[in-house]
Amino acid sequence: MNGGFEAMQKQIWEWTGYNAMTTRTTERERSLEKDQVEVRIKSIGICGTDLHIMEGHTGFSQPPLPLGHELAGVVERIGDGVVKWKVGDRVCIDPLIGCGKCQECLVGHKHRCRESGEIGLQFPGGWQEFLVMPSTNLYKLPDSISFAEATQAETIHCCLGGVDKLTIQLGQNVSVIGDGPTGLYYVQLLKAAGAGKVSLIGMREKRLELGIRLGADAMFNLRAHAAPLAAETEDIVIDAAGTESSLRLSIELLKKGGQLLLFGLPGEPILVDIQTVVLKELTLLGSTNAPQVWLRVIEMMASGSVQVKPLITQYYEFNELDKAVEFARNEPDEVVKVIVNHK
Ligand SMILES: [Zn+2]
Ligand SMILES: [Zn+2]
Repeated sequence: MNGGFEAMQKQIWEWTGYNAMTTRTTERERSLEKDQVEVRIKSIGICGTDLHIMEGHTGFSQPPLPLGHELAGVVERIGDGVVKWKVGDRVCIDPLIGCGKCQECLVGHKHRCRESGEIGLQFPGGWQEFLVMPSTNLYKLPDSISFAEATQAETIHCCLGGVDKLTIQLGQNVSVIGDGPTGLYYVQLLKAAGAGKVSLIGMREKRLELGIRLGADAMFNLRAHAAPLAAETEDIVIDAAGTESSLRLSIELLKKGGQLLLFGLPGEPILVDIQTVVLKELTLLGSTNAPQVWLRVIEMMASGSVQVKPLITQYYEFNELDKAVEFARNEPDEVVKVIVNHK
């Protein structure tokens, strides 16, 4: 390769300890392994998970580590054996890496691989100018999807995987608890899936109002309504909050025979009224990643059936990534999704 030593350096941001991060310059990989690609990162989404990791509560990440798992960019270099990609291709990145050999990986469930991990969680993430990864972790971006929007394919893919697990019938009542980005994507996917009345339940007025603009039929602020809806009115509840009280509310709102999708992570054991789950004959479904849905997510983003732009509340430049993270942490009433762009 041409280009001097200078050109082979990259700037990175690393999580270093409790709510702390620092930036430095480090060397780029001199050469790529077979089937690897190097992506020039263009946009990064700041996720609630990044904030939880930085507090040290998740248990799956160790500092020092560049975080960042909501990523989009441009192919910069390709290793031997890579035929599907060429330099300059616009891509979004599936951060999940499996062993590629076990039964789960072979049937397309790499998120269930015992050795799997994620870019930005267990492996170095995209808080960098350049990131090397397996070429199979890329998805091509249509020109109509901006890099900033494309970062959200990762979040939306988790939500679509959840919706796929439900049996939704036209006109059914569905409540989504949690008004963060995942709740707002769930609202849109549920309407696209034919749900009838979709209610968004949360704590932040601006996000709830955005939910209405994105298609929710009703919104309830738990700061104002202790009991937002009458008990046993919902066919389906999605718990995107993952707290003891959201779970209690979910079980209360569900009709007998209803389905409960468990999506939010409590981070610690919580109490559940199992007796009521049994007596109401509820179906409980857990959901994390869904490697098989990526192409459909990009299709839905391109067609406009799921919108990202209205969720983006702040943009920062890569040099100010620390400020972006700080804002996301300290201003939850102002933030829905913070995006960091490289120049
Ligand atoms: Zn995330
Ligand atoms: Zn595997």
